Amino acid sequence: MNQTFDFIVVGAGMVGAAVANGLADHGHKVALIDQAPEPPEPAEDVPGIRVSALSVGSERYLQQLGVWDRMLAMRATPYRRLGVWEGGRRQSSQGLSLSSPRTVFDARDLDIPHLGHIVENQVTQKALWDRASEQAGITLHAGSGVQALSENGQLITVTLVNGEKLTGRLLIGADGGNSRVRQLAGIGVNRSQYQQQALVATVRYRGLPEDITWQAFHSSGPRAFLPLHSAAPFFTGESWASLVWYDDPAVLAELKRLDDDEFIARVRAAFPHDLPDLTAVIDRASFPIARQHAHHYFQDRVVLAGDAAHTINPLAGQGVNLGFQDARCLQELLDEARRQGLDPADSQVLAQYEARRRPDNQRMMLAMDVFYHLFSNRRLPLWVARNLGLGLAQSLPFARNQVARYAVGIDEGLPAPVRALLDRLPGPWRDAQPSPRV
Ligand SMILES: Cc1cc2nc3c(=O)[nH]c(=O)nc-3n(C[C@H](O)[C@H](O)[C@H](O)COP(=O)(O)OP(=O)(O)OC[C@H]3O[C@@H](n4cnc5c(N)ncnc54)[C@H](O)[C@@H]3O)c2cc1C
Repeated sequence: MNQTFDFIVVGAGMVGAAVANGLADHGHKVALIDQAPEPPEPAEDVPGIRVSALSVGSERYLQQLGVWDRMLAMRATPYRRLGVWEGGRRQSSQGLSLSSPRTVFDARDLDIPHLGHIVENQVTQKALWDRASEQAGITLHAGSGVQALSENGQLITVTLVNGEKLTGRLLIGADGGNSRVRQLAGIGVNRSQYQQQALVATVRYRGLPEDITWQAFHSSGPRAFLPLHSAAPFFTGESWASLVWYDDPAVLAELKRLDDDEFIARVRAAFPHDLPDLTAVIDRASFPIARQHAHHYFQDRVVLAGDAAHTINPLAGQGVNLGFQDARCLQELLDEARRQGLDPADSQVLAQYEARRRPDNQRMMLAMDVFYHLFSNRRLPLWVARNLGLGLAQSLPFARNQVARYAVGIDEGLPAPVRALLDRLPGPWRDAQPSPRV
């Protein structure tokens, strides 16, 4: 029997599964589709290689969706401090040895218990999927992707690769950076590929789980440490962590070829002394990094959310946090549209969504670009300037805390001085305005 849904969500990744749950919680009838099979139970002995730093704002949203406790019951590691510093010492042309100032944000300075959690993507996705499968308002379709879209009056129909057809009033494309929905809807993107790639490694180290996540900046790219849960009972006295090494693709290809002992030795030599004592490396994978922004967030009966709409440099770990903000915003506007008796695909409703989300996403992209270009630059004056910047931040707790509140998702707007700085940036970084609709 053919049934008509209020919403068809394509992509049951973290963002799509979140928006589907939020809509179903408010009584909407939703079809949730993913080309991948149903996510399996996360393995108990080894963490998944893809992890995300989830902000306090994302935690609140996931609590509202009723999945946060399930995630904690699987595993999620809180971090109370966040450290940022310039990698190593450096010699100036005058022979001066310049030290490496650090900035450490501490949850205690903000009167909160933690700054965020490091969570495996598979844990977040599994919790959202399990919740979705309990919801009477959600019909799940796993294992077959989208093949075609067609619109007919007040409805949109999606044809899956397996030939199945589903009909709804609005289609939400949350199918990631290579979104098929975006292509089928004819929405273009601005895209630039960074020269760096990211190598992610799952490692074990001696000791209890650390309460700090840190990032050391080098001109070849940052190197980051993200703490995960205890490795007990399988490895008593050890813990898991995820390391991220951004660098030239050729360097990362060589690192991937090394055997485990050689890889650990290279990491020890290249990461700051704060790195705990590594005992094993379990998995390594590299990811290309691109900055990509859809020209429009909606077209007729299709609207985009998460990476389908915007992909940002992961160096400050904000991608899915922005995606969750899209999801929450879209869900609120669609609830309001129903209260007012409006068509959910009403262009004014969807334009409001884009007007609320595009500037925030754009600003975060710009901020990541500023970081990327500032820290990739080998010239001394810039090096000094950025060190002064970090040193200044360290010495001004108030300014630091404003930035930290934004980064952890307590405040939703960028602090005014940062906004002013970004607004003054030159041309190519600014595509904040969507291109005119034709
Ligand atoms: C190295 C690295 C580190 C990162 N670290 C962080 C971090 O610390 N914090 C953070 O916030 N973000 C981080 N990110 C970004 C984050 O991973 C993404 O922003 C996030 O995964 C986007 O979620 P999504 O649900 O929008 O898309 P995705 O996670 O890409 O999910 C898309 C879903 O759509 C499905 N799909 C795809 N095509 C189709 C189709 N044709 N039909 C049906 N289904 C389809 C896929 O199977 C998938 O389930 C990182 C990214 C990288 C590369």
